Order: sequence, then structure tokens, then C-alpha cells
Amino acid sequence: MHLKEDFPLKELTTIRVGGTAKFYTEPSNLEELKNSIEFSQKMDIPLFILGKGSNTIFGNIRGLVVNTRRLKGIYVREKDNEVLVECLCGTPLRDIIRLSLKEKLKDFYKLLGFPASVGGAVAMNAGAFGVEISDFVKEVYFISWEGEPEKLKREEITFSYRNSPFPKMGVVYKVVLRLKRTEENIMEDYLRIRNLRREKQPINELTSGSTFKNPKGNYAGKLIEEAGLKGFRLRNIGFSEKHANFLINYGNASFQEVKEIIEIAKEKVFKEFGINLVEEVKLVEDSGFNGWKVL
Ligand SMILES: Cc1cc2nc3c(=O)[nH]c(=O)nc-3n(C[C@H](O)[C@H](O)[C@H](O)COP(=O)(O)OP(=O)(O)OC[C@H]3O[C@@H](n4cnc5c(N)ncnc54)[C@H](O)[C@@H]3O)c2cc1C
Repeated sequence: MHLKEDFPLKELTTIRVGGTAKFYTEPSNLEELKNSIEFSQKMDIPLFILGKGSNTIFGNIRGLVVNTRRLKGIYVREKDNEVLVECLCGTPLRDIIRLSLKEKLKDFYKLLGFPASVGGAVAMNAGAFGVEISDFVKEVYFISWEGEPEKLKREEITFSYRNSPFPKMGVVYKVVLRLKRTEENIMEDYLRIRNLRREKQPINELTSGSTFKNPKGNYAGKLIEEAGLKGFRLRNIGFSEKHANFLINYGNASFQEVKEIIEIAKEKVFKEFGINLVEEVKLVEDSGFNGWKVL
């Protein structure tokens, strides 16, 4: 296991905000992944599993950050008119979207436009345009926090809106997706969605996507906009002019600034509408002195 110390984190996230990790590692196989879990437990320090950092904003981590980006690979097989796609957790979602376009596979391409890893997408139950990744999951292979390799079938896993039992239950190591072929003109729909995203979201800015989850029957972006915070800026961080639920790092924004602006939005929205906004982004920091846990 290759360990680095005092590793800078911000380049590992799409919003480019972050301090340092006391320990950092990039396992390239299952054994190394297990070793990193064991290391954090032996040292009694917190652990954070990182995918592509597109939903994560870091402060300082006195524990261990485990980056899954070397755990990549896709294996495809056909079974009973279905296409089964096995992918390792660090595989970019984009690679599977490309595959689904090439092979004319139904609906998966709707998850285009966000820079997720497969493991991060499953952990977040990422979704867009009427689909969620859990719609396609057949099986999830994971390493439990006891260090055991385990497997769960889709029907044994409780997914909900932007939520799954992972990483609480363990590190997703491999996912099997079940996709169906289609005769529909998926390329046309893919381009339609891609244009919509370009038009409505600040996809070329430094951002983590949606800051807050949509409250039931409402939209976080709409509430932030109606509370007068669309385009609101606090020093180096601000809510996008294009989509009020997207935070943009306009310079060298700090974790502290992120936390402050999030608090301002929560307070303002609660005051105006009596609605508690709940973060979708993971704000991750720790003191490291409180023993082993999953961040
Ligand atoms: C421009 C933009 C647009 C976006 N649009 C959308 C959208 O339309 N829909 C949507 O759902 N999201 C969207 N997002 C948010 C984000 O891309 C998704 O949440 C994505 O699934 C996060 O994947 P990641 O690999 O970057 O995860 P990370 O940010 O690295 O991690 C997120 C969470 O997953 C956990 N995790 C990561 N890998 C594993 C693993 N192997 N095992 C267990 N837990 C793991 C982490 O510990 C953390 O809790 C957008 C983001 C951006 C920047």
C-alpha cells in the first residue's frame, strides 16, 4: 500500500475546494483496498472513500482518504437478451454511457453530464431525467467494514432519492448493471439532454452540482432563487446565475466560505418558506481524534 502524507485534496474535487488529508492512498486492487481499510482501523482514524469528487467538498481530514480512481475496468456479457455490464467502482460513469450509446442500450445515457465514478453514483443513487442508477443495478459487490467481501442483489438494497446504504455498509468494489437493448433513437434524446444541461446548468464552472436535495414536491433551486440568493456571492463562492442550486468557486474559495454560504441559504429559505434544506453535497472534514469511523 502506497501512503502519502499531508496530501492536498482540492484538485481531487470538481469544485476545487479543500484542505489536506493526513493520509492518502490510491489502491489498485482489492487487496490494497482491504489493506487501506485495515490501516485506518489499526490507526483508529476516520476514513473517506473518494470517487471522482463531484459531490464532495473537503475541509481538512486528519484521517485517511482512499481514492478509487485506479480501480477501473468494464466487462460486458449478454444473457437472455440483456446486457450485463460489470464495472469496478472507479470506472467513470462516462465510459458506460459511451458504451450504452454504441450498443444502443435503453435509458442509461440519461445519466450523462456529471463526472461521477460508478461507486460514487451508486452510493449517491445518482439520477437525472427520470432515471436513477439503481434502476439499472443488478448486484453490488462491496467490502464490509469488517474487511469481508460481500455481495447484495438489487432487491436486497434500499435505495432512495440520492441515498443508498453505502458507504455506511462498506466500500462498493464492483457493480453489475443490467441494461436492455432498444430500437429507439437514443442519440437524438442524448443530444437533447446534453443541450438542456448546457443551457440550464453551469457545467463548465468549478461546481459540485446540486448543493441541496430537492424537498418533497419542491425544488431547492427555485426556493433559493425566490429567497433572492440566485447569483448571491460571498467572497469567492456564490450561487450560480444560471442555476441557483449550484455553488460556484469563483477563485480560491475556502471550506469555511462554503459552510458559511450554505448556512446563509438554509437560514434564508427557512425564514421565507419554513422549509429545511438538506445538503446533497458531502461536506467532509474531521478532527481525527475521535477514533475510527466512515466519513
Ligand atoms: C456539473 C455537475 C452536475 C451534476 N448533476 C447531477 C445530476 O444530474 N444528478 C445527480 O444525481 N448528481 C449530479 N451531480 C453530483 C455528482 O456528480 C453525483 O452525486 C455523483 O454520483 C458523485 O459521484 P463521485 O464519484 O464524484 O462521488 P464522490 O463525490 O467522490 O463521493 C460521493 C459519495 O459517494 C461515496 N463513495 C464514492 N465512491 C464510493 C465507493 N466506491 N463505495 C462507497 N461509497 C463511495 C463517498 O464516500 C461520498 O459519500 C452533478 C455534479 C456536477 C459537478
